[in-house]
Amino acid sequence: MKAVVLTGEKGVGGIILEERPVPVPGFGEVRLRMLAHTLNHIDLWVLSGSPAYTVTCPHLMGSEGVGIVDAVGEGVDAALGLTPGMIMAVSPGQGCLVCELCRSGSESLCSSYRVLGGHLPGIFAEYVCLRASRLIAVPGGIDPLSASAVTLAGATAHQALVVRGAAKPGERWLVVGASGGVGHLACLAGKAMKMEMVGTYGPEKKREILESGLGIPLVTHESPDWPERVLSQSGQLFDGVLDTVGGATIPRVLPLLRKGGRAVVVGETTGAQTQFPTRELFGRQLSLHGVYLAHRMDIVAMLGWLARGELRPIVSSVGSLETIAPLQEAYRRMMDRDFVGKIGFVWDAQGRSGRR
Ligand SMILES: [Zn+2]
Repeated sequence: MKAVVLTGEKGVGGIILEERPVPVPGFGEVRLRMLAHTLNHIDLWVLSGSPAYTVTCPHLMGSEGVGIVDAVGEGVDAALGLTPGMIMAVSPGQGCLVCELCRSGSESLCSSYRVLGGHLPGIFAEYVCLRASRLIAVPGGIDPLSASAVTLAGATAHQALVVRGAAKPGERWLVVGASGGVGHLACLAGKAMKMEMVGTYGPEKKREILESGLGIPLVTHESPDWPERVLSQSGQLFDGVLDTVGGATIPRVLPLLRKGGRAVVVGETTGAQTQFPTRELFGRQLSLHGVYLAHRMDIVAMLGWLARGELRPIVSSVGSLETIAPLQEAYRRMMDRDFVGKIGFVWDAQGRSGRR
């Protein structure tokens, strides 16, 4: 079978397509024949040697994916009802499953929390074996690439907006960085919740695809007066801001919140350090939350919106992975921020039974 492996060589040249034996499911494991995958920023952190994710090369890449149950190993709880042919999403992050944090839905706070493809070997292979507890049934009728997109980026958007941000129907929220994986899915989740969403984006060339994919008011944050433009666009202060850009934007987004408003930060692409506007925070009684990844229930919620046709991720597919070149090019585009939404690939465009 084919697997996407990081050799340790710097840059996208270090990503290769390697032939590996089909894995055999161990005790409590299920083998999936993978259908579709989407790329995540974690892949880039691993590729760049970020200290947040130290991996041993050769490293099997990838955090996001959906597959078909191909074999069920010994020791898998029969009550789970896992049988060959079922389509399952992979929950990439997992804690110990037994501590109070894991059981209460705050899995990513567990000290044992690890992410497939980041701390652990990933899932970009034609076949993978995983603990049954990582699998979530995908409702019928959902395109596998869309389902894959909500397993990490979409789940993080849900955790940030709905769980930590406590967003409610009818509220007005701003998403800073609406063109990225988490940002665009937060905009779509907000629309599914009947919220009023406004988004900001970078280069003007992204506007057309965002307008048709999101259907919300948009303002480019490349113009220095973008906060004023956002305010004139919306006419009112916001109940909440979801900031996927972080760093330099934080002093600029807090003044856009109403008294008692909430800001949720899920990234630092404009730098990790910033001058913090303390007076904004206490003077207007704002709440500030940091969100890092998500819980499996966030994936279930996002899959529900997909199944009801209330949310359609923007995913551009590089097609079936016959050679590594299209995937290397996709990572180059991610590094250059030359993409909108999510980028994905499939193993078998025709849906054939796949080769061993
Ligand atoms: Zn735990």
